[in-house]
Amino acid sequence: MLEISFAGAAKKIKLFSSCARSLSAGERMHFSVRRKADLLTAQRDCFVRYVHTKVIKHMDSFRVRNADPNRQRKLLLALSLGTSSVTLLHILDHLLETQTSKTGRTGFGLKVLFVETERKAVHQDLLTRVRQAYPKYDIASLPLHDVFRFVQGTTDSLSDLLPTAKLREEVPPADKLEHLFSSLTSATARADVLATLRTRVVVEHAKSSGCEGILWGDSTTKLAEKTLAETAKGRGFSLPWHVADGDSPFGLTFNFPLRDLLKKEIVSYVDIVGHPLPSLVFETAPTQASMNSKNTTIDDLMKQYFESVEENFPSIISNVVRTTGKLEATPTTTETSKCGLCSMPVGDGRFGIHAWGGDQHGIIDPARASHGRRLCYGCTRSVPHTTETANGGI
Ligand SMILES: [Zn+2]
Repeated sequence: MLEISFAGAAKKIKLFSSCARSLSAGERMHFSVRRKADLLTAQRDCFVRYVHTKVIKHMDSFRVRNADPNRQRKLLLALSLGTSSVTLLHILDHLLETQTSKTGRTGFGLKVLFVETERKAVHQDLLTRVRQAYPKYDIASLPLHDVFRFVQGTTDSLSDLLPTAKLREEVPPADKLEHLFSSLTSATARADVLATLRTRVVVEHAKSSGCEGILWGDSTTKLAEKTLAETAKGRGFSLPWHVADGDSPFGLTFNFPLRDLLKKEIVSYVDIVGHPLPSLVFETAPTQASMNSKNTTIDDLMKQYFESVEENFPSIISNVVRTTGKLEATPTTTETSKCGLCSMPVGDGRFGIHAWGGDQHGIIDPARASHGRRLCYGCTRSVPHTTETANGGI
């Protein structure tokens, strides 16, 4: 970013290098006789262009020239109603409108899904507003307990996690979900299972809607939070699939188009763009980790840490994400066993806590170690077997 002093302007304004270079000497003189409001408009346009460029760069493979005119590629945007995912919807709407105005068609079709993790009237209110603001898109809303509907049948390994056989068969999905959560022993476990099930609902909906990939609204800051939180929760083995663009073990691609933008830049974007964006976002207070350790989650601690780091040391956040981006996912095949909860590949059938044991090269009896359940190390920590050590505290 460059600071440029315009003749006659009371103070310098900041412009991104590309915008500053595009101004000729004549334009600078032109600015000199205009009011301060014009300078602010130039600064605003420059910032909006900067944000759009950062996002569109990651949508390169979905340009119109890469699209088959006879078969539209479809993508699903996972909407959480937070600042980032609403911003992503706004920018993608702008991208699709630009593609249509230039070529008469788009490089991809967009569907949107919101997963209700708790019933809140404010969410329904916001969804109505989002649908009004972006009427061209199919914006669906599904309850979290639909995960049991999606995975029912022979592959229903989720119901195996319920405490009794009766619950596995006769109970409606909403009650199954309630029983599953009430069996979890810590706030971190509940947050972890909730995020895992949400991902599965998004994935299953994307598959049933004919989408080839999922767009997640994670900013650089969120990806850094996720990197440390997932590692602390014992999910380091699956990190590449949680934060990297490309193929996922679910048979769909995952893309994070906001990966080069800090959370605070996205918040500024919403303020600068103005109506209707600020009215579509579910406002949350700055993260305060609970004083009560029983209610504190690892995710909240990481969120609070990176929100404070973002203010003065943003390069730390980018470094975390860049470093994680160098991790390579373990090669998998369709034969590789998958975890019954998160559905991530578990190499060599290392289910359960003891099968992993922190040693990548030695393995004890996997069947005994996993108590017959097929959960990865991270999921076993969140949904401990009664005879296994619980994930106490945070
Ligand atoms: Zn798992």
